[in-house]
Amino acid sequence: MKGSVGSIDLMIVMRESSGPAEVEYILARLEEAGAHGHVSGTDIPVVIGVIGDRELIAGLPLEAFPGVDTVVPILKPYKLVSREFRRSDTVITLGETKVGGGHIALMAGPCSVESRDQLLGTADYVREAGATMLRGGAYKPRTSPYAFQGMGVEGLKILAEARERTGLPVVTELMDPRQLEDVVAYADVIQIGARNMQNFHLLSAVGEVDRPILLKRGLSATIEELLMAAEYICKEGNERVMLCERGIRTFETATRNTLDIAAVPVLKQRSHLPVIVDPSHATGKVELIEPLSLAALAAGADGLIIETHPRPETALSDGAQSLPPKEFARIAARIAEMVAWLGKTLG
Ligand code: PEP
Ligand code: MN
Repeated sequence: MKGSVGSIDLMIVMRESSGPAEVEYILARLEEAGAHGHVSGTDIPVVIGVIGDRELIAGLPLEAFPGVDTVVPILKPYKLVSREFRRSDTVITLGETKVGGGHIALMAGPCSVESRDQLLGTADYVREAGATMLRGGAYKPRTSPYAFQGMGVEGLKILAEARERTGLPVVTELMDPRQLEDVVAYADVIQIGARNMQNFHLLSAVGEVDRPILLKRGLSATIEELLMAAEYICKEGNERVMLCERGIRTFETATRNTLDIAAVPVLKQRSHLPVIVDPSHATGKVELIEPLSLAALAAGADGLIIETHPRPETALSDGAQSLPPKEFARIAARIAEMVAWLGKTLG
């Protein structure tokens, strides 16, 4: 879909009795007319989002095409990520683990990959405690240019080794399209950090790769802006996007950021994409990780991403919000209880 113009402004809802041949026929007619049809997942009824020049599409007898039930406009500015476009929850599968549709992800690990020992040690204890994915930054967005910037490719290689060792898929941040090839080579999930949420070239670049994306909400981004950023990724063909609420900037200084807990049900209402909550960056405080993790799950989150470090006092980044191993294991057990109580599944 690269380079396509126009936007999806309407959806063709097929009759339940329609078949693949009718869908194929409509897709071909749209292409012929210089437009493009985007089929929404495997839900019944099948929904085709139409992208293209408005006037051109208006000239097509869409309602008269075989198998068509109704043609309805999508009123929201975001289309592919909207609940209107896909009613059922998107479920992202990564090896043996799933996210969304009642499957809860517990992503855990250090803020930064600092050494082989640190990361492999962390991978072992988070897996033991029930984590379903391993996090760790190899490229770090730091406020100060003098602060530790990450291990780069060496860090990615260590993450890949940790995945081999534990079987946990790894999630790591991409900051620059120039690092895309390396990150794709070693990581399972690509994180787009809060500071890059509106780096539109970066969003389009990850829209073209075959890796799920963890898209973090910008520090001062509205919910609609987050959904529009996700739309950039989906528009290029990559619809495996997880939305991450990680706290926003407010006047409050008691916490590092303010966790917008209401964003969780709002995002779930407006979008079919999984919603992940990051209580670590939202609060900056270890003592707030447990209550906010439980609150996020109660609000309907599909997963959590939590920072933990074997020796937080020595961490090169975000030590103050990183849980030590025992505390992480205790909280992970509480999270598992909460997931079971909600009737959902961890992983
Ligand atoms: C991180 O995950 O370590 C990070 C820098 O997150 P954010 O982009 O949410 O600040
Ligand atoms: Mn961090």
